[in-house]
Amino acid sequence: MSDRVVILGGGPGGYEAALVAAQLGADVTVVDSDGIGGSAVLTDCVPSKTLIATAELMAEVSSANELGVMIGEGGIRVDLARINQRVLQLAADQSADITRRLGKEGVQVVAGRGRLDGPNRVVVGETTYDADAVLVATGAAPRTLPSAQPDGERILTWEQVYGMQEVPSELIVVGSGVTGAEFASAYLNLGVPVTLVSSRDRVLPGEDADASAVLEEVSIRRGMKLLSKSRMESVTRDGDTVTVTLTDGRAVQGSHCILALGSVPNTADLGLEEAGVILKDGGFVNVDRVSRTSARGVYAAGDCTGVLMLASVAAMQGRIAMWHFLGDAVHPLDLKKVSSNVFTAPEIATVGWSQEAVNAGEIQAETVTLTLSGNPRAKMQGVHDGFVKLFCRPGTGIVVGGVVVGPRASELIHPVSIAVAESLTADQLAQAFTVYPSMSGSIAEAARRLHRFRAD
Ligand SMILES: Cc1cc2nc3c(=O)[nH]c(=O)nc-3n(C[C@H](O)[C@H](O)[C@H](O)COP(=O)(O)OP(=O)(O)OC[C@H]3O[C@@H](n4cnc5c(N)ncnc54)[C@H](O)[C@@H]3O)c2cc1C
Repeated sequence: MSDRVVILGGGPGGYEAALVAAQLGADVTVVDSDGIGGSAVLTDCVPSKTLIATAELMAEVSSANELGVMIGEGGIRVDLARINQRVLQLAADQSADITRRLGKEGVQVVAGRGRLDGPNRVVVGETTYDADAVLVATGAAPRTLPSAQPDGERILTWEQVYGMQEVPSELIVVGSGVTGAEFASAYLNLGVPVTLVSSRDRVLPGEDADASAVLEEVSIRRGMKLLSKSRMESVTRDGDTVTVTLTDGRAVQGSHCILALGSVPNTADLGLEEAGVILKDGGFVNVDRVSRTSARGVYAAGDCTGVLMLASVAAMQGRIAMWHFLGDAVHPLDLKKVSSNVFTAPEIATVGWSQEAVNAGEIQAETVTLTLSGNPRAKMQGVHDGFVKLFCRPGTGIVVGGVVVGPRASELIHPVSIAVAESLTADQLAQAFTVYPSMSGSIAEAARRLHRFRAD
């Protein structure tokens, strides 16, 4: 008889695991309450990146003048209702695609809210599913505060922004982590006046400091108001006006406010603790590097574990869980090999060890930073901002990390990711041909400059 796998949650953590388990011959059921694809596809990752695709186009067009393209008197403007319609349609289509794929692979999809009844049973309404292994991949939801309650019209979580039918006359984004920075940058490039309220001394406090300095400079140059070291106390609405009151008494007014205050895991009332699953602070499921929880046969993946809140990591944790349970070859999750990107303008992509870790002495590494302004392709394309930074081990020259800031940094980081994943040396990275002229030429050039740190 096949192993029975029941998966709670149909986001990337859940559906990617389902595909692996089905491939390995298991009898797989995915239970999902809000739609296959999860928040990643329906409300978070896919919609935001679709919105940002339009914002990118606007950013390019607004610098067209420098490249000799003249835009008529009326300039350009966006139709937000049309953009949002496209966003929502694309997300729904993507969800339907994944559902079809699961069906084709023989995965049973159950719509409903599931909970554990012990470690080997899942209950959905009146129906019970026995399982040899359960994977919990229930994701997370936007954090809100009693003093800042979304109304879905003018005070919005990131899940609600696609309901906006008209362009905000003045948008306030509260929170300068990845989500806040991405929305602030996107709406700014769509032509909306944006104020970003950040409790920290810089935007993107978790990212490379040089990268966030570039982003701040570019955003301010494009007209963003950045309120740093400004902690939000409350958000209120009076008619068409939204007021964000800060803890120091200042008040900022706008037409709309997006709350980007982080996420809380969807782990309450799932029967987890009763099944022997230990939760960490904040309610996240505690897992090891092969996605095992403290309860035998219960695995967890994705945002509900709080390990690294990325769709790519959720998917890998889910696959690892299934490879482990079904006895396939498995490599434990290695966060130092994860490449990630902040989809602001310019984009910020990173992989491996960070400058912060190097500065703190957690790893010994040599660094080379090369601005993109010297790159011939960048000059031709009118790209003035951004850089490539590489870290390598002194002596061996093995590449241990990198940062790329610039347009399409999310694509440019890949050679660095390969170098980090495969422990290539800077010399090996430099040896591969790059196209002339190309932005990736700067990655090879940075690698060449690291040569001086090789031991003879
Ligand atoms: C605005 C935004 C943009 C993002 N952009 C990116 C990006 O560009 N790239 C990237 O890698 N990551 C991005 N992320 C992060 C990414 O969306 C998450 O890491 C990813 O969604 C996690 O996947 P998951 O499978 O853990 O959970 P989810 O995608 O949240 O899916 C969980 C599913 O489980 C369902 N569920 C919950 N409880 C139950 C239950 N009891 N029974 C049945 N079903 C249940 C939920 O309804 C949901 O459908 C972004 C996040 C945000 C907020």
